[in-house]
Amino acid sequence: MIAKVIVDVPSRQTDRPFDYEVPPAMQDWIEVGSRVGVPFGGRVLQGFVIGFAETAGIDAARIKPLSELLDPVPPLLPDLIELAEWISDKYCCSWIAALQAMIPAALKGKAQRLISLNPDEAEEGDGLTSLLPVELADWLAKQGQAKLETVQERFPQHAAAVKMALREGVLLEQASIRDRLAVRKVLTVFPPHDRAAAEEALAAFPVRAAKQRELLAFMLERGEPMPLAVMLAEAGGSPASVRSLVDKGLLGLREVEQQRDPYAGREFRHTEPLPLMEGQQAVYERIAASVSRGEPQALLLHGVTGSGKTEVYLQSIQHCLELGKQAIVLVPEISLTPQMVERFKGRFGDAVAVLHSRLSNGERYDEWRKIRSRRVQVAIGARSAIFAPFERIGLIIIDEEHESSYKQEESPKYHARDVAVKRARQHGAAVVLGSATPSLESFAAASRPPAPGRESGLLPMPNRVGDRPMPPVDVIDMRAELLEGNRSMFSRRLHAALAERLERGEQSVLLLNRRGYSTFVMCRSCGYTAACTHCDISLTYHQKTRALRCHYCGHAELAPKNCPSCESEHIRYFGTGTQKVEEELAKLFPGIRVIRMDVDTTTEKNAHEKLLKQFGDREADVLLGTQMVAKGLDFPFVTLVGVIAADTSLNLPDFRAAERTFQLLTQVAGRAGRHHLPGEVVVQTYTPEHYAILTAQHHDYAAFIREELKHRGVMGYPPFCRLVLVTMSHEQLAQLSSVSEQFASRLRELAAAEGVLDSLDSGSKRALEVLGPVSSPISRMKDRYRFQVVIKYRGNIDVPALLRKATAPFLEGPAQKQVLFSIDVDPQVIL
Ligand code: ADP
Ligand code: ZN
Ligand code: ZN
Repeated sequence: MIAKVIVDVPSRQTDRPFDYEVPPAMQDWIEVGSRVGVPFGGRVLQGFVIGFAETAGIDAARIKPLSELLDPVPPLLPDLIELAEWISDKYCCSWIAALQAMIPAALKGKAQRLISLNPDEAEEGDGLTSLLPVELADWLAKQGQAKLETVQERFPQHAAAVKMALREGVLLEQASIRDRLAVRKVLTVFPPHDRAAAEEALAAFPVRAAKQRELLAFMLERGEPMPLAVMLAEAGGSPASVRSLVDKGLLGLREVEQQRDPYAGREFRHTEPLPLMEGQQAVYERIAASVSRGEPQALLLHGVTGSGKTEVYLQSIQHCLELGKQAIVLVPEISLTPQMVERFKGRFGDAVAVLHSRLSNGERYDEWRKIRSRRVQVAIGARSAIFAPFERIGLIIIDEEHESSYKQEESPKYHARDVAVKRARQHGAAVVLGSATPSLESFAAASRPPAPGRESGLLPMPNRVGDRPMPPVDVIDMRAELLEGNRSMFSRRLHAALAERLERGEQSVLLLNRRGYSTFVMCRSCGYTAACTHCDISLTYHQKTRALRCHYCGHAELAPKNCPSCESEHIRYFGTGTQKVEEELAKLFPGIRVIRMDVDTTTEKNAHEKLLKQFGDREADVLLGTQMVAKGLDFPFVTLVGVIAADTSLNLPDFRAAERTFQLLTQVAGRAGRHHLPGEVVVQTYTPEHYAILTAQHHDYAAFIREELKHRGVMGYPPFCRLVLVTMSHEQLAQLSSVSEQFASRLRELAAAEGVLDSLDSGSKRALEVLGPVSSPISRMKDRYRFQVVIKYRGNIDVPALLRKATAPFLEGPAQKQVLFSIDVDPQVIL
């Protein structure tokens, strides 16, 4: 029996399955998806079994046996193994990168070295005594096996002896894979199982064993198991007295597996399904029918903000569970999770596992194990929850499907939406993409005429629950404000609206639409800004540590007192935009209670949740923040939404700038007046005539799409074509420049040979353009210069295959000297 194994070595040359012999003892245990330790180049590395064969292939001559099987139940399932191959192919990444993305960090095992006494030598005895100090030999004999590091730490004085003993074979060395984190176990005391006998024993206890007697009485009264540590803390006594009770057979003592539950002790109020509104009902029926049929289908739920999408999700999942299938729910990011988690836990209770990025590795691992061991049927989480190891998926929901966080920015650079569609195909599941502002790509796909005999995949919910009106949006021209002498960051309109809310005791949400970084340092005399010495990017100021830090490479330095360039003292640390707004609010409205939510106030775990809870409990008048406050929040007393400056995201040099702005404005506007109190929105801008702002003002998605599609068509951007971004980097500019030129021309030659090198304007069905190379927008990062090539194409072209061929000649020679290629298929940002 031969196992095909993808081994954890991140290089292109080794990105293929290797053959290993399966030792007979493992044959009944090993499966596709098993995690194994394998000998590889003199080390033991972790790998994943992707298949089996009768005979070995190209590795036949030097085939070795697997060294160990790491888990009795494989962490991955055959469908995930297949999915990993698809990901590596589509997104041009290694198989191992795709596989690693599917398992929790706790299982990313590391090799460790174990040593033990050679049993043959131990019997004869003389080798041992002559080579190994007695204390070390005795200790090892007792341990059986010990980590090399532990031996080194414990017996630093015997390093030479250990080395010699290893060389002479008196000690044996073995490599093994150790998980970064294990199941947590707690030593637990069990009450006597024969109660009558224990009570008898208690009565007959000798007086001098008073403590034991007390402990036994304590456990008898308690009647249920409890952790040893807790018991000792409550009842007093020592582990020794517990042990003697255990030895007498009166108490039990065992290790018990513990769940780290991030929501332990939290009560979620149970909710019953609401009677659906007409619009919801129609959409629900379409989704439920699709789940029942068990045929893969992608549906776009285009529901305005406040149309009640979540209730539709909940009832669709209910239906899915009734069919004995499982459901995955993706949410964009952590700030959205508290309210969503609450709604899902409230409806499905313990059937829900939560996988979000702020969990500790241990908590994440335990949530993941609930899924793998079939203890839950619903997984809710960010992007990577798409890999939840369910066996029968009936429904995958992607809420706020337009969000860019569904694309992973590091390898594997997958898009959760596309992976979801692929996984749904494997399982015969329905995919529901939900949004008030669907991405152009999804909208275009769903609007195509359906295949004959099939219904359209576009499910609209154009009305709010209870036919509540969409809030009116006031667009304020800030240029006019300035002309009329208002130099404040608040227009008179927004100022008045805020004052009104304070008076009425209602709440406001203020959005400072500002991407990029919180703080920067600038000299007012000479204009110097602090930049990273390794990257072409400004440093940001961290108030707590008084340090300047680089977001890309982590470089940190102490903030200077004088300008390093002109020695002036007028060097200023510009606070976050939000900080400034907060100060201004305090000045204008003394006593105003503001909750600020931005990167600075949300570094702590659960910070979002706490802040949102405070706001929900009406402990503040204003929730002020960045993009984080725009999404998914549902608070009944919010009647005003203000956008301080709508333009910041509009001016980014990215083809999605208008789309992102429209989405953001629509989302944030949707926070107002969601319940019985009517809401209003004030948007401040310097470009009130821009179509993204005008269409958002009128809640007119259709008009925005029409206008935006025109632009995309003219400029040749998705959805009219697809993009691939290739970024190359090297320490030396000359070499980078030469390699990137060669690469681009080779790519053009290969495309020409395939007959697809053609302008996108040409009208031919298959066309591919190669743009560049040019210097990347961030031209240097971590001491490496960066160039990029953008590929635009249309039609059925195997671009990953072209790229593999085009990059091949540049991947030879020593790795350190090579130009690094980073490939981003369907990039979200090409800034
Ligand atoms: P969306 O996600 O579409 O913006 P939500 O799912 O947050 O909207 O729903 C908006 C509000 O309407 C929520 O407070 C929700 O509880 C309420 N709601 C949804 N469906 C119904 C219904 N069928 N009957 C009554 N209230 C509903
Ligand atoms: Zn200066
Ligand atoms: Zn840097």
